[in-house]
Amino acid sequence: MTYGRVALIGLGLIASSMAHAMRRAGAAGEIAGYARTAQTRAVAREIGLCDRVCESAAEAAEGADLVVLCVPVGAMGAVAAEIAPALKPGATVSDVGSVKRAVIGAVAPHIPAGVHFVPAHPLAGTEYSGPRSGFATLFDNRWCLLVPEGAERAAVERLAAFWRALGANVEEMGAEQHDRVLAVVSHAPHLIAYTMVGVADHLETVTESDVIKYSASGFRDFTRIAASDPTMWRDVFLTNREATLDILGRFAEELFVLQRAIRMGDGPLLFDYFTRTRAIRRGIVEAGQDTAAPDFGRAAAGPGA
Ligand code: NAP
Repeated sequence: MTYGRVALIGLGLIASSMAHAMRRAGAAGEIAGYARTAQTRAVAREIGLCDRVCESAAEAAEGADLVVLCVPVGAMGAVAAEIAPALKPGATVSDVGSVKRAVIGAVAPHIPAGVHFVPAHPLAGTEYSGPRSGFATLFDNRWCLLVPEGAERAAVERLAAFWRALGANVEEMGAEQHDRVLAVVSHAPHLIAYTMVGVADHLETVTESDVIKYSASGFRDFTRIAASDPTMWRDVFLTNREATLDILGRFAEELFVLQRAIRMGDGPLLFDYFTRTRAIRRGIVEAGQDTAAPDFGRAAAGPGA
């Protein structure tokens, strides 16, 4: 057991997967949970997600050794303010937010003296949300990035051991580096998927149902990514603005290069470009970062946000 009592604030995909993975690993003595709406709390009780589902975030956090904020990035600051008076000395507060600099800015001012704050981000997810969408293997062989920002080493090591027990590989990273890397591997690609599905949506009026009918060819993967939670992704783009805009600017430049090559009939350029991108794909597969989620059936676990 890594922590005696763990509190999950927010009971969606990530928190419910953590609850299942904690149970599998015996990583917590007791799991307390809280979600904003009565409906989500009722579902959590119905499926026995936590040992205790509380009526307020502060009630869940009271007496916890580890409190993990599992709400959209834009809601982290308000939730931290709410739980702050209930935190016990020596407790650790962490989060699973997809953006780190903005979350640290919003949460850190509320952390009382004597409480550790160790931000984290598990790079694992699917396009599903809510308390029923979680599964125990979501984090297996995925990365969990810790962004300790000077937190006490013992607290950092303990949280790292916790995430390893949940199946993840753990590494530490600075907040700026985290946000930049995630803009490349997750945030910009999601925006491109949203855009491509938007393009098809406009075309649909012209081609009737052809876009849906023939969606197996690549487009289907875009629709899966573009089905991700709108609140979560709105917050990601609003809080990782600079890094995402920088990567999208570079993307637009590359797109023009390829556009021009197509217009000019420059086959060698296209061939060389696609040969390089194919090598990147092979590297990802060889690194074991393209495994399907076996017990989820309907979806491959993506890289997360
Ligand atoms: P989710 O399934 O949509 O669940 C979100 C939870 O947050 C729900 O319990 C919801 O409560 C609660 N919530 C929503 N808005 C809130 C607000 N304004 N105040 C308080 N609580 C609020 O989301 P998720 O996918 O688990 O994502 C949670 C966090 O993990 C986000 O910060 C996200 O960036 C990060 N993350 C997501 C992924 C991914 O691929 N999904 C991967 C890695 C990290 P109700 O149900 O009661 O509305």
